[in-house]
Amino acid sequence: MGSVLPPDNHVHSEWSWDAPAAASMVRSCEQALAAGIPSVAFTDHLDFTVAADGDRIAAENIEPRPYTRMRSLDVTGYLATVQECRQRYPDLRILSGAEIGEAHLWGASAAAVVAAAGFDRVLGSLHAVPFRGRLTATDQLFGQMPADDVMRRYFAEVVRLVEGSGIFQVLAHLDFPRRMWPRSAEPYTERAFEEEYRAILCALAASDRALEVNTRSPLASAKLVRWWREAGGRVVSFGSDAHQPWRVGDKFKLAVDVVEAAGFRAGRDRFDFWRI
Ligand SMILES: [Zn+2]
Ligand SMILES: [Zn+2]
Repeated sequence: MGSVLPPDNHVHSEWSWDAPAAASMVRSCEQALAAGIPSVAFTDHLDFTVAADGDRIAAENIEPRPYTRMRSLDVTGYLATVQECRQRYPDLRILSGAEIGEAHLWGASAAAVVAAAGFDRVLGSLHAVPFRGRLTATDQLFGQMPADDVMRRYFAEVVRLVEGSGIFQVLAHLDFPRRMWPRSAEPYTERAFEEEYRAILCALAASDRALEVNTRSPLASAKLVRWWREAGGRVVSFGSDAHQPWRVGDKFKLAVDVVEAAGFRAGRDRFDFWRI
């Protein structure tokens, strides 16, 4: 008997503002079934571009500077598609959800949407950091400062995200800018940022949440997942971060090997997170 693959807790559908034309919730469900993934969470992007009362971004006078394509999530349309998929694929567990960008800066806006939508799974992520008074996409920071400094600035802001927002259950791609690490820089090593990783992992473990192993990013090492365990982390979530159906569950066998090597195992049932 082959072992059961973990749930994919981080999948985007056509309702994400950055989704390509090929993104389809229906096709992603078919892919999950074909790949032997027991459960999928559709965590479409919940990003904000205009500050509401109570959002820290306004209090701190940070200019949002969104991507020009960024648009808010159509929660009603999204939830209707989730409902259709649940009826169409009863053998697949389908969770509703969202990936909230910079939730610590958009606290009031995010809380209002999450309360109304009743999502099953909420991911917290950081794609942009405040820089010179503007919320700046991390890819725009490379070239403006040494690559190491981009990572340190990012990691410090992730600690603020974790400590400043309790709205999410899972911290997504904790070293996101690593995806854009410049070829001209020295090769990326987790060891060079051990202190920064450990600061994030301690903050996350203190609030008893899950760390995501993201298979779209360069894969975390078993050593990094062990740091999570040493920090007191007890829960791991797997996420393909698929924006196209074929990527659902992508590289999960490899990710399972890494997470198992760090001592984590499948949870209470096949729909659960992995646990220590
Ligand atoms: Zn993301
Ligand atoms: Zn994502």
